[in-house]
Amino acid sequence: MLAQTQNGKMLRVSTQRAEAIIQSEIRAMSIECEKVQGINLAQGVCDTPLPRPVAEGAKAAIGRDCNSYTRYDGIDELRSAIAQKLCTYNRINADPETQITVTSGSTGAFYCACLALLNPGDEVILFEPYYGYHVNTLRATQAVPAYVTMQPPDWSFTPDDLQAAVTARTKAILVNTPANPSGKVFTATELEWIADFATNHDLLVFTDEIYEYFLYDSRTHISPAALPGMAERTITISGFSKTYSITGWRIGYSCCQPEWARIIGYMHDLVYVCAPSPLQWGAVAGLNELNAQFYSDLALEYRAKRNQLCHALEEIGLNPCWPQGAYYVLADVSRLPGNNSKDRAMYLLKQTGIAAVPGSAFFHGTGGENLVRLCYAKTDAELDSACERLGALR
Ligand code: PLP
Repeated sequence: MLAQTQNGKMLRVSTQRAEAIIQSEIRAMSIECEKVQGINLAQGVCDTPLPRPVAEGAKAAIGRDCNSYTRYDGIDELRSAIAQKLCTYNRINADPETQITVTSGSTGAFYCACLALLNPGDEVILFEPYYGYHVNTLRATQAVPAYVTMQPPDWSFTPDDLQAAVTARTKAILVNTPANPSGKVFTATELEWIADFATNHDLLVFTDEIYEYFLYDSRTHISPAALPGMAERTITISGFSKTYSITGWRIGYSCCQPEWARIIGYMHDLVYVCAPSPLQWGAVAGLNELNAQFYSDLALEYRAKRNQLCHALEEIGLNPCWPQGAYYVLADVSRLPGNNSKDRAMYLLKQTGIAAVPGSAFFHGTGGENLVRLCYAKTDAELDSACERLGALR
């Protein structure tokens, strides 16, 4: 790419990386939404209040002058609390001293894990519909995404689909459970298929478990690293953005075997130095002070939001694929006019003032053209108003 300088000269700058990254449709729709003062169900921002201990923990840390850089992989107290939670909730045994890296969000964890563990040209299999940051992070780190397309309404796949995606260059497979945007919660059987597949082809397994507490209708979360023999090849990634409604705080973590954790930590040091210091203390307070009731109430609260939005979509004939977890719903917009999902999302915005993400943002092919994604991580008042507005399409 050429860029003009003030003296009229043209500077040649690197483009290979930039050209591979497509500007997020989510941002684009948020801008369109602002123009019409609509309700933004495009962006996955939790508008719900953060838990008190988390806020108080961070404030107290600032009061104690905990404002300096921390150890590159996070404060001892947070690594220990995460190890404890991994043991009790995820059934993963991890040494807090050598296996856990506190990162700048789970986004930072995945980016640094890719930098640390993948070579340019390595192929990574991921499931589509996918989360765009996963694909773009792979591209930015010069890895190559390969796709297993899941089938609606329950977003199923088969072991044959996995086999069809593997090549001599496949290095890893990425699992996101519960998944964005599909809301799929991978079953024990599916995770066993993935475990066998990864073992047979000697692959790394990246897992993004950021929605691990957002589970509906008695579903349980299974961490791939908890399956027999899987801890040694799995990089478990999660964080606190969603569970504690602190998306802007940027606190996440990875957990994997010590040799890899060290390199991920070095990469994280290089890019971010450390996760925000006082905010790490907020996460410690959350982990230590919030009880099981908090997490089950969270799932119930979001289940009610899911039900409300899905019923509203059904009433206007935009059939939703009822999510099993996370807080997004993919709805069938084939009855709306337009040639593609962008047209249909723009029609929806124009008619109702509701911004949704065009389904094309989650597929590498044409699989998403009849879909839009709506996010229900909204306050009750906002969701009420959004559902009322959707009624305009009746
Ligand atoms: N992973 C998935 C699947 C997400 O949907 C999101 C946010 O939308 C993230 C990660 C970002 O998490 P964090 O705020 O911890 O970087």
